Amino acid sequence: MKYEAVIGLEVHAQMLTDTKIFCGCSTKFGSEPNTQTCPVCIGMPGVLPVLNNKALEFAIKTGLATNCKISTYSRFARKNYFYPDLPKGYQISQYELPICEHGFIEIIVDGEVKKIGITRIHMEEDAGKNIHEDGGNYSFVDLNRAGVPLMEIVSEPDIRTPKEAVEYMKKLRAILRYLGVCDGNMEQGSLRCDANISVRPLGQKEYGTRAEVKNINSFKFVEKALEYEIKRQIKVVEEGGKVIQETRLWDSNKGITESMRGKEEAHDYRYFPEPDLVPITVEQKWIDEIKASLPELPDIKRERFASEFGLPEYDADLLTSEKSIADWFEAAVKAGGQPKAVSNWMMGDLMRLLNEENKTIEKCPLKPSQLADMLRLMDKGTISGKIAKTVFENMYKTGKDAEAIVKEKGLVQVSDEGAIEKAVDEVIAKNPKEVERYKGGEEKLLGFFVGQVMKAMKGKANPQMLNEILKKKLSQ
Ligand code: ADP
Ligand code: MG
Ligand code: ZN
Repeated sequence: MKYEAVIGLEVHAQMLTDTKIFCGCSTKFGSEPNTQTCPVCIGMPGVLPVLNNKALEFAIKTGLATNCKISTYSRFARKNYFYPDLPKGYQISQYELPICEHGFIEIIVDGEVKKIGITRIHMEEDAGKNIHEDGGNYSFVDLNRAGVPLMEIVSEPDIRTPKEAVEYMKKLRAILRYLGVCDGNMEQGSLRCDANISVRPLGQKEYGTRAEVKNINSFKFVEKALEYEIKRQIKVVEEGGKVIQETRLWDSNKGITESMRGKEEAHDYRYFPEPDLVPITVEQKWIDEIKASLPELPDIKRERFASEFGLPEYDADLLTSEKSIADWFEAAVKAGGQPKAVSNWMMGDLMRLLNEENKTIEKCPLKPSQLADMLRLMDKGTISGKIAKTVFENMYKTGKDAEAIVKEKGLVQVSDEGAIEKAVDEVIAKNPKEVERYKGGEEKLLGFFVGQVMKAMKGKANPQMLNEILKKKLSQ
């Protein structure tokens, strides 16, 4: 029997507002514990929350960018539970009337476009953080994070494979970052993912019983945790058992999911409308204004990059994965770089050099126009592709322009026929055995000769001329 997985993701995204969702405290990350708190976010009695308009705007932006219907009337609700990091004893969230509903985003899997439904997006406040010291019989509570605005983005159970789940997360993250509403940092917890998973025999319509896996904090773990959980559930079913509805925790060290609590221990949150906040009414005019202000989003940009610059789908996809990468690309093209050449240098050498230093393109020491200038030197034949590699790395490391580096290091390509001929003659004279073998039919030895001459000429020989001269001389 073959099985199919059914997956729905609940993603929490921390919004990039300067202040918290219901008070004026800072949301800055990494400050001394409890220095960014006030009577509202530490849950003092008698205080009143006031909605941060920026958080509302960010949620609406996200809804519009994910094709949602924006509610002109929505409401906050209290989600009641007890935990030390939740001083009020309830979290202000949205329940039956969320700000956004019925959207979708598109992902590409194996070259096919697939729509993943967005059930809802709602706003809520984050909780604080409990800190447990090793060996101590006490815990600390840091409430700096209490009241930081979150969006919960809930997908339809439209995802079928771990790979699709990763693509969905990546696309969602790209959209959030394009919008500037969330930094998308999974390691730091500003983007968190809970996965709901069930399995069913292929062809069956009804969904199986799902388990929810929490604590997944990287793209790699989305894939690993889902793969593990799908295998586990299939095994349970094949052995005649039943998957039980429960919450499981992903343990990244062990590479497994473990039961955390069953349905019986599930919370009854006793949701009810938040009496301290008026319902949210949003004018259609404002929604339209926000819509008009949206940036060009990844899907549209990708299609434009493919058509406008004639780039392969693969290049267009990679270059538009981050707005900053796309901007760098466009600036280099605008400065005169041929699009495919710019793309190749960016996806190859530039990304490699940035990765080596763990840098993002925002921190790139190289200006887009510098790449364009270097490409011009290649087009003019001043430097060969091989020399360009050295020049590029030098530009990156020193910040100097290509022309200056070429001059300084004497890297100008040698296109002087006489000079190349001389070097070729010397190499031929020094390697009689190889010449013999080449003439005897071992044509792949040409590469050896090219290498020897290049070495003698410090990599500066014009490659086309070198090839021609070598072939001519070797057939004499
Ligand atoms: P809860 O209130 O328990 O979080 P929801 O109905 O809001 O439950 O669903 C949460 C997530 O679970 C959604 O992303 C949804 O797509 C997904 N989901 C629902 N049913 C299933 C199922 N049978 N298998 C896998 N995922 C599911
Ligand atoms: Mg849930
Ligand atoms: Zn506060």
